[in-house]
Amino acid sequence: MSFLDENFLLQTKAAQTLYHEHAKGMPIIDYHCHLSPEAIASDRKFDNLTQIWLEGDHYKWRAMRTNGVPEQYCTGNADPYAKFEKWAETVPYTMRNPLYHWTHLELKRYFGVEKILKPETAREIYDTCTALLQTDDYSVRSILRRMNVKVICTTDDPIDTLEHHRKIKADNFGIQVLPTFRSDKILAIESPEVFLPYLRKLEEAAGTSISNFQQLLDALTQRHDFFHEQGCRLSDHGLETIYAADYTDEEIKHIFEKALQRQALTQEEAVKFRSAMLVHMALLDHSKGWTQQFHLGALRNNNTRMLREIGPDTGFDSIGDFDVAQPLSRFMDRLDTSNQLAKTILYNLNPSQNELYATMVGNFNDGSTPGKVQFGSAWWFLDQKDGMEKQLNALSNMGLLSRFVGMLTDSRSFMSYPRHEYFRRILCNLLGNDVEQGELPASEMDWIGQMVEDISYNNATTYFGF
Ligand SMILES: [Zn+2]
Repeated sequence: MSFLDENFLLQTKAAQTLYHEHAKGMPIIDYHCHLSPEAIASDRKFDNLTQIWLEGDHYKWRAMRTNGVPEQYCTGNADPYAKFEKWAETVPYTMRNPLYHWTHLELKRYFGVEKILKPETAREIYDTCTALLQTDDYSVRSILRRMNVKVICTTDDPIDTLEHHRKIKADNFGIQVLPTFRSDKILAIESPEVFLPYLRKLEEAAGTSISNFQQLLDALTQRHDFFHEQGCRLSDHGLETIYAADYTDEEIKHIFEKALQRQALTQEEAVKFRSAMLVHMALLDHSKGWTQQFHLGALRNNNTRMLREIGPDTGFDSIGDFDVAQPLSRFMDRLDTSNQLAKTILYNLNPSQNELYATMVGNFNDGSTPGKVQFGSAWWFLDQKDGMEKQLNALSNMGLLSRFVGMLTDSRSFMSYPRHEYFRRILCNLLGNDVEQGELPASEMDWIGQMVEDISYNNATTYFGF
């Protein structure tokens, strides 16, 4: 085998058959990502390889910093080629990090570049790719078409006008681009400097005033309706853990009033408020048949100096070890008792909790939708070979792998689509190994092939109902 050849990661004949005959040709539903709707609406073209590849990519920045590269070449104002050169110098040092595979898969799939990126090849690769980026084949929409993407769900704030989504829809360019309702800021009640200005923006967006808790709920419902009209079918929450404290409606009204008057809240009050908000938003999702997603377990913004200097989502986050089982159980049970639990996807960032999640999702399936509560795809730090295999194995051992809605990029970059290929190869390799070792019947290759097609594409189509 040679590096990144057609059978990359496919160790057996059965795996190769599964990938080439069943996975490879399936379209992509990228049901969670952070792509810019504006870039899709304007069909953005990129000036150079640095802009499309390094801009916003905190995975690369983190590796560069680890390799001793000063900040000016990561998020700073060094010129585009100087930044790229520093990345090219770093790449050989990323061997065995998924960045090494992603980098070369991306160069190959997008630009046909077969060379290994290192200082000696940096200039040539940069010039080749930058020249291609000037052509119409490399506009954002052309890229998405070439990557066989059918649906994209971006991540949007409830106060967003969705003007770019409306333009994209009106242009009807062949790919569905839908918003996702991500309401993290409404949970930040203990930080008046974030919460109160946000409420003002929410008032503006909903065209109402918010002077009590009921009005807050009304405004959110209004935005939820608006997102639904624009095709939104998913919500998302990025949390350390689920909040599921006990509370009464009276308490929540009172806590909200205190927050409006800038009175300090206790930790307990903030948790009660967040617990109530999660339930209210979950009820909205259920009422419209949406799927709610929870990205759990990140310990964010660990480096306060860098947070102050360059802001969040810049590569200073890590895996946390929060208490998740009890709150998850209480939260879902609360909704299930009145038969109002929406379709739910739980993404776990701490691999030591994989089995916890894989069993938790089995508690609230009710026969209404296959795989109603999903153990989501390996996420962020776990979005690599070992992390994906562990997620797939835990899901297989404790749930039904065949009902899995599969992979998503969760990326800010238009260059990340080979991650679906990467995932599919890993999936086919696991199943292929089982066949070769007699743990799955070779006589059932048609069924196993169907399973691969389902996990790659069909399950998501059926599950989300876009
Ligand atoms: Zn995300």
